Amino acid sequence: MNYISTRGKSPAQGFGDTMLTGLAPDGGLYVPDSWPRLEFSQIAEITALPYEEAAVEIMRHFIGDSFSEESFRECVTAAYSGFDHKARCPIVQTDSNEFLLELFHGPTLAFKDVAMQLIGHLFDASLTERDERKTIIGATSGDTGSAAIEAFRGRKTVDVFIMYPHGRISEVQRRQMTTPDDDNVHALAVEGDFDDCQRLLKELFGDSGFRDRVRIGAVNSINWARVMAQVVYYFTAAVAVGAPERAVSFTVPTGNFGDVYAGYVARRLGLPVDRLIVATNQNDILHRTFETGIHEKHGVTPSMSPSMDIQVSSNFERVLFDSCGRDGDRVRGLMASLQQEGAFEVPEDALPMLRREFASGRASERETAATMRQIFEETGHLICPHTSVGMKVARDNRGESPMVVLATAHAAKFPEAAEEACGVRPALPDSMADIFTRPERTIRVSNDAEAVKSIIEERTAA
Ligand SMILES: *Cc1c(COP(=O)(O)O)cnc(C)c1O
Repeated sequence: MNYISTRGKSPAQGFGDTMLTGLAPDGGLYVPDSWPRLEFSQIAEITALPYEEAAVEIMRHFIGDSFSEESFRECVTAAYSGFDHKARCPIVQTDSNEFLLELFHGPTLAFKDVAMQLIGHLFDASLTERDERKTIIGATSGDTGSAAIEAFRGRKTVDVFIMYPHGRISEVQRRQMTTPDDDNVHALAVEGDFDDCQRLLKELFGDSGFRDRVRIGAVNSINWARVMAQVVYYFTAAVAVGAPERAVSFTVPTGNFGDVYAGYVARRLGLPVDRLIVATNQNDILHRTFETGIHEKHGVTPSMSPSMDIQVSSNFERVLFDSCGRDGDRVRGLMASLQQEGAFEVPEDALPMLRREFASGRASERETAATMRQIFEETGHLICPHTSVGMKVARDNRGESPMVVLATAHAAKFPEAAEEACGVRPALPDSMADIFTRPERTIRVSNDAEAVKSIIEERTAA
C-alpha cells in the first residue's frame, strides 16, 4: 500500500516514510491510496483476541513491507505493556445499550497514549534500522506534549522538544512534561499562549536550513500512524458489543478530528458502524459545518474541555478529500480559501457524503457540567469534561444500535471540573501519586523563533 497527499502534488510513498515525515511537502495530509477490506469472518475473529493481537491483525493492512511482522509485533506488544488495564481499552456500561470506551489507561491518562506509545516504538525501530536520528518538535495545549514525552523518553534515536504556553496549562499537565528526568526530553515554557507556540512551530518547520540541520520530525495529530493506531479500538469495542452481527454507533469528543476520522477508517475497512457522531464543545466549527455546509473559523473560546478548544480541525481535510472524489486540486482550492478568507463552502456534491458518514452535536459548558453530575449520580463513575461532551451529544442522539462513547481522558486530569460538577475530587492513579513531589525541569524561552532554534540546536544530539 502507498500513501498519497490530499493536495495531490506530492509523490506517493510507503508507510515508513509517511510516518517519519508526517505532513506532505505540498502541505497536504497522507491517506492510503486505496482502502483494504476485512471480511465478515475476519472481523468476527477479533472478538477472541487480546488487544495486541487484534491490533496487529488490523494494522498489518496498512504497513506494507516497512516492518517485518516480527518487529511490528514487538513494537505493538511493548507499546501497550505499560497500560494499567489488562484489556488496554476496556468498556464499561452506563445504561442499557450505552457504553463508555475507556481510552485513558496509558501513562499520561489521555487517549493520545494509545497512538503515541506505539509511535515511540515504531520511530525507534525505523530510525535504528536506517541508522538515523531525529529531533521531534511539538507544541501542546496540554495532552499531546506529555504523551509525546512519555513515548520518546530515554530513546537513543530521538530528542524531543515540546513547547507549551507558560502558566496556561494545568499543573498536572505541566508536571507530566517537566518531571521526566531523561536527557533527551526538553520541555520549553514559552512566554506566550498556545497560538504563539503553534506559530513558532510553523516557523521552525518553515526554515529548511534549520529543519535539515536538526533532522526535524513531527508526531502531531495529522501523522497517519496515529490515525492508524486509533482504528484498532473501534474494532475491539464494536465486537465486544455485538459487531459484526449488529451495527454499532460511536460518539467521539472531537477537536482536531483525528479520533473520529479513525472511526471513519474503521467503517471503510468493513466494520459495521451505524452512526458516527462528532461531539463538539462551544468551539463548534465542525458541528456548524455539518449543519450549514459552511466551514468557517471563529475565535477560540476557552472551555472546561481544553483539548477540544480548536479553531481549525486539521484532519477534516482527509474526509473532505474523499467527499471531493479524491481530487487534490479541489482540496487545495478549499484550503487556500480557508487560509485567506477564514472560510470555505463545502461543495454541493460533497455535502451529502459528509452528512451520510457523520452526525454531529454540541454541548454547552452548562450541559457538560450537568452531564458529568448526571453520570456520577446514575453510575458512580467520574468522567472527564471531554467525555461528558460526548455523553451529552450521545444522549441527544439515542437510537436502536448500541452507543459507545469514547472516554478520552481520566477525570483526575481535570480535577477542578470534576469537583465543581460532582462535589468529589478524583484521585490520581497510584502510578502518578508522586508527581507533585518530583523535581521539575523546564527551559523558559521568549516568544521568538530564533531563541527557540538556538536552544534546540544547542541541546539536540541529531
Ligand atoms: C486530543 C483530545 C481530544 C480531541 O481529539 P481529536 O483527535 O483532536 O479530535 C478529546 N479529548 C481529549 C481528552 C484529548 O486529549
